Amino acid sequence: MTVSVAEHRAAVRQLVPRAPAGTLPLEECHGLVLAEDVTAGVALPPFDNSAMDGYAVRASDIMAAGPQRPVRLPVAADIPAGRTDVPELVAGTAHRIMTGAPVPRGADAVVRVEDTDAATGTVAIHAAAEPGANIRRAGEDIARGARALTSGTVLGAAQLGLAAATGRDSLTVRLPPRVLVVSTGTELVTPPAPLADGQIYESNGVMLAAALRGLGCRVELMRAVSDDVAAFTEALTERATAADLIVTSGGVSAGAYEVVKDALAGEHVTFTKVAMQPGGPQGCGTLHGVPIVTLPGNPVSVLVSYEVFLRPALLAALGHPKVERPTVRARLLEPLKAPAGKRQFRRGHYTEHDDPRAAGATTGTVEPRGGPGSHLLAAFTEANCLIVVAEDVTEVAEGEEVEVLLLD
Ligand code: AMP
Ligand code: MG
Repeated sequence: MTVSVAEHRAAVRQLVPRAPAGTLPLEECHGLVLAEDVTAGVALPPFDNSAMDGYAVRASDIMAAGPQRPVRLPVAADIPAGRTDVPELVAGTAHRIMTGAPVPRGADAVVRVEDTDAATGTVAIHAAAEPGANIRRAGEDIARGARALTSGTVLGAAQLGLAAATGRDSLTVRLPPRVLVVSTGTELVTPPAPLADGQIYESNGVMLAAALRGLGCRVELMRAVSDDVAAFTEALTERATAADLIVTSGGVSAGAYEVVKDALAGEHVTFTKVAMQPGGPQGCGTLHGVPIVTLPGNPVSVLVSYEVFLRPALLAALGHPKVERPTVRARLLEPLKAPAGKRQFRRGHYTEHDDPRAAGATTGTVEPRGGPGSHLLAAFTEANCLIVVAEDVTEVAEGEEVEVLLLD
């Protein structure tokens, strides 16, 4: 059975359920999607505080100060950041104050230390200050009770910082799925064990785990399960129910010893040929009720399949507002050929240039990296995009425009 890229994408997307909401410690929330509105438990700043190291004063006491005419005030208190028993400022005095320290009652300005002689007994002030100078007002950033973050927000560093600043140590987020990644192949060896003739080092599992963890998933990795139906079934059955999603690689194409196909034939898994290159042999369904996506074995097919099928499905499940890679059109720097009836995903290197025809506009070029072979992983490491050649296109000439999917 042959299906289109869009059909298999839809099947995988439907298979991966929306991640449930749950609470995680703040440190584990990076990159996840918020599933609650966060209300500021405290105002930010929580109290009027100094924006500078300097002296808290009454602006009216130093109105006459100038470079040649310092105003001298006794320093009545010292207020480092964190002081909680700040005495009131008496008219005609100054308090030495540090950045972030509470401004004393009675003071209405802070003079920068650079405009003083920095003394601790009696300070000479060489500049006047407007009322309010160098004071950060309580609630200036966010008021107490105001909405700090909205449900659906992707939690980056700034968002987590704000949550922490308003007093949160955990957040309700879309919980990252636990993904069991299984690499099949009797030929696979896990480094650093030596290779015998006919063996190769396992790489798909490491790639998939890295890509999935990048989305926030929790990954359990089984790196070298032999092409033995009994061994494969046993390995999977043991761990399947602890997973929210199973992803396998290898053992789904047309040859003999296709362990994944053979083992899951009686299960609720459909094996198909997707009209794409690389990544044609695919499958998806459920195993003991757990969604399973079976990818082909060649490393480039695995990574392209991840991009085309798994990444959007998982981002959608995790509640991300944007699940697709950005696409641009770019001028091809080398001609390429593509198979009829299949969507081809070629690895490429995209460069953006200033457009000489329009100020401020940009135009892009793209250079294929490596051939179409699905074993050419080294070329993938030099790529920053996938060149998408439509099903009905078999040749693209140099200089023609192609669609390009920008990777990270
Ligand atoms: P298969 O689909 O199982 O026939 O595998 C296709 C090709 O991918 C074969 O050349 C395999 O040796 C290779 N391959 C499969 N799994 C892996 C893996 N985990 N790491 C590296 N290469 C693999
Ligand atoms: Mg295999």
